[in-house]
Amino acid sequence: MSHEGIRIVSESEVRREAQAEHKLSPEAVTPARVKVKKTEGTGMEIEWRDGHTSSWNFRWLRDACPCATCHEERDKAGRAPGVAKPRQQSLLQMYEEPPRPLEVSPVGKYALKFKWNDGHEAGIYSWEYLRRVCDCDQCRSARAK
Ligand SMILES: [Zn+2]
Ligand SMILES: [Zn+2]
Repeated sequence: MSHEGIRIVSESEVRREAQAEHKLSPEAVTPARVKVKKTEGTGMEIEWRDGHTSSWNFRWLRDACPCATCHEERDKAGRAPGVAKPRQQSLLQMYEEPPRPLEVSPVGKYALKFKWNDGHEAGIYSWEYLRRVCDCDQCRSARAK
């Protein structure tokens, strides 16, 4: 019996593979603690079971809305989740209230739903989605590769 074909993977290889897309461990997409700073109006912070911490500001989250409409809009414009729409130039500058959630509610055990102050509430932010769009330097540079 031959042992050829059995791949011996090093620990760093395993880690690299675990970080690759579609291979998030269950710990990586299970929040241990979720802080929504609604009163302060700043953003949301999630501590994951695997020890990683993610934080986003509300504007970023609004611009990363995963609903079909927002997704399509970003896709057409070639914007990554969280990248703001270019401002329309006009003589009359309208004051726009910064995005903040009026309500944040859990959807089952897998997601959060935001009701934004602009009335939009179609986006279901799953833990997995949020982990994939983690806005920390480490994850951002991993995605840029
Ligand atoms: Zn949306
Ligand atoms: Zn991260």
